[in-house]
Amino acid sequence: MMLHKDVESVLLSQEKLEKIVKSLAKQIEKDYNDKEFMMVGLLKGSVAFMADLMKRVNLDFSIDFMVASSYGSGTESSGRVKIVSDLTLPVQGKDVLVVEDIIDSGNTLNFVMNYLMTKGANSVKVCTLCDKPSRRKVPLVPDYCGAEIPDEFIVGYGLDYAEKYRNLPYIGILKRSVYE
Ligand code: 5GP
Ligand code: MG
Ligand code: MG
Repeated sequence: MMLHKDVESVLLSQEKLEKIVKSLAKQIEKDYNDKEFMMVGLLKGSVAFMADLMKRVNLDFSIDFMVASSYGSGTESSGRVKIVSDLTLPVQGKDVLVVEDIIDSGNTLNFVMNYLMTKGANSVKVCTLCDKPSRRKVPLVPDYCGAEIPDEFIVGYGLDYAEKYRNLPYIGILKRSVYE
């Protein structure tokens, strides 16, 4: 397959992503087997991951989405998180699994998890496709993690830079010349 001209190299190929998703789905099936749970995707970054993941989890559950913003269009977290679009379903008493594209500083998820707990969720866990633990500013360890990655800015499979590249079927490292 042709690499996008702005992509330096492929970090997670389509084949690798498929393996990661299958393995995460298996773990989730085992852990949520007896629970009344809800998958909450954080838009827009989680859209490709969540679509693939939910089809592999062979249990009964509901899905919902939230939009939380901290980034604007740059490559650094502003630290100020706000909820731009809220859930449509009640979370009271539910076991919530938040599905995220990537954890960087941890600010976004920290805020969202606290918010869901104050809304009365019974439990809140996190399933992230990628994690950059070296960049953490608040202590947060994902319950399910697809891949730990180095401190590079990645795009594709839902992840954007300035709203571009979300449609790439793989995850690639963005060329620095694009944003520097
Ligand atoms: P945090 O609040 O943990 O610093 O940032 C989380 C959000 O920032 C992610 O959900 C994602 O939208 C964005 N983000 C963090 N690192 C990257 C990256 O390497 N590439 C892209 N495209 N987005 C990122
Ligand atoms: Mg995100
Ligand atoms: Mg983004």
